[in-house]
Formats: sequence, C-alpha cells, structure tokens
Amino acid sequence: MDVPMYVTTFDNTDSKISLDNIATDAPKDLSREAAEGRLSALGTEMFELQDLLWGARTHAVLIVLQGMDTSGKDGAIKNVAGFLNPRGISVVSFGVPTKEENEHDFLWRIHKHAPRRGEWTLFNRSHYEDVLVVRVENLCPESIWRERFGHIRDFEELLSEHNTIVLKFFLHISKEEQKKRLLEREQDERTAWKLNVGDWQTREKWKDYRDAYEDALRKTATGRAPWHIVPANNKWFRNLAIAEAIVETLRPYKKIWRKKLDDIGVRARGELDSYRQKRND
Ligand code: ATP
Repeated sequence: MDVPMYVTTFDNTDSKISLDNIATDAPKDLSREAAEGRLSALGTEMFELQDLLWGARTHAVLIVLQGMDTSGKDGAIKNVAGFLNPRGISVVSFGVPTKEENEHDFLWRIHKHAPRRGEWTLFNRSHYEDVLVVRVENLCPESIWRERFGHIRDFEELLSEHNTIVLKFFLHISKEEQKKRLLEREQDERTAWKLNVGDWQTREKWKDYRDAYEDALRKTATGRAPWHIVPANNKWFRNLAIAEAIVETLRPYKKIWRKKLDDIGVRARGELDSYRQKRND
C-alpha cells in the first residue's frame, strides 16, 4: 500500500501507537498556499475516482472519522464531500444510541449504513464509540467492550471481503488546541449554539480518552482497514492530509474501474449495434 505523505498510517495490530509521538501541527516546511494548491488538484482527482467507481460499481468506499470533541470531524466531512458528486455519497452521524439500537448488538445500527457498491459513505463517529465513550464513561462492563475489538476487526474484514474500501481517520488535536476551539465557540455568537457543558466535562477525562483511543487504534489497525492519524490542529492541513490519504488509497483501483467501464462500453455498443441491425431488417 502507498503510504500518504502527511499522515501516519497503521495497518497491523502489532503497531506500537503512541499518540504523544505523533504531531498535531502541520509540518513547518509546508505553506498554507502550497497546501491549498495541492488540495485542489487532489480534489479534482478524487472527483474523477468517484465518477469511475460510480460507473464501475465494483467497490464501495467507507470513510470513518473519529476524534476528540472539536477535532474537526464535521469540517473534514464537509471538505471531502465538497469535492464529490452528492449523488453518490451519504453522511451518517452516530450519537447516543436510541432505545431500539440499544436493544440490538452494537453493530446493528452501523451495518445498515454500510455503503452499497459504487457509493461512498462518511461516518461522523461510528462503532468506535462503543470502545471509547462506552469504556471511559463505564457504560458497560469491561468484559463486553473488550471483546468488541475482535468484533470490529471481523466486521471490517467482512466489509472489505465484500469490496468495501475502508479508510479510518483519527483527527489528532492537542489539548491546548481543543481549549482554544471551545473558547472560540463561546466568543462567537454564531457558534454559541454548539456550547455544551458536556464538552468541558469530557475534556477533564482527556487522558482516559487518549488511552482508550490508543488502545482502540492499536487493536483495530489492519491491512484492509488501516488507521490514518491526521495532524488536525490546522484545518487547512487536516483537509490536505485526508484528501491525500483517500486519493493514494483509491488510485491503485483506477485501472480496475477503467477496465470495467471499457467492458461495459463494449457490451453496450454491441447491444446498440444489434438493435440497429434488427431495425434495418
Ligand atoms: P459531534 O460532537 O459528534 O460533532 P454533537 O456533540 O452535536 O456532535 P451528537 O451527534 O448529538 O453530538 O452525539 C454525539 C454524542 O453521542 C457524543 O458525545 C458521543 O460520545 C455519543 N455517542 C456516540 N455513540 C455512542 C455510543 N455508542 N454510546 C454512547 N454514546 C455515544
């Protein structure tokens, strides 16, 4: 697999992931202007890839966004979706499970939103909440959340066995950056509606969440469903890094999708020719 330039990718469960050792800031040697130019080119390529896949219908794309509060999951989704044809994408947000959802296994509400072939789905939070918030807030016994790592690996393996390309992103912000963003929300009337005491309460458990994340990332990083850790303190860089990881992952499929479209074209042309011949009879 090609490793994108700007994210740290983990694709096996032996990975020693230490979030403290992974940058949250954009690289010093990259200017915002250069990043935006590159992002625009990647966006064009992403659209072309989506278009090929829409016609070929051989694979589906699932993008999972996780991160602490204010890490920019919404902004990242808006950016990726902005490059794509809305016809072929869905965005699904997962909040506190409903009563009905809680009366099923934890993957029940997730699986039904898995993308069909030809399409993309972007998850804002996901089944990972069931080994993160559930663990830190003690919402179920350890024996239950702990066995979910295996269920998650099997679930993602099942999806990829059925031609779903799974990309998982952890948006990595620093604790200081989170504070800055929460305070900015308070100061701006237009974002005050997002204020939530719960965000500050969750922040008090920063270390617990970080440990839970490290554990989850380690235990569910696999070759077919790798984790991409994105330095997310700078929004412009976050957008570039995610776009790059997506395009690098999908680019190798281009040949398969083109070939499939060529085959479909040859068949369609043949059908049209025989239709015309019959009409001339
Ligand atoms: P966000 O912070 O995701 O942008 P939000 O703060 O507006 O969105 P909602 O979308 O209403 O919040 O819900 C997100 C909340 O739901 C988070 O606090 C998250 O931890 C919680 N949540 C998600 N999945 C689960 C789960 N399986 N069990 C318990 N809580 C969950």
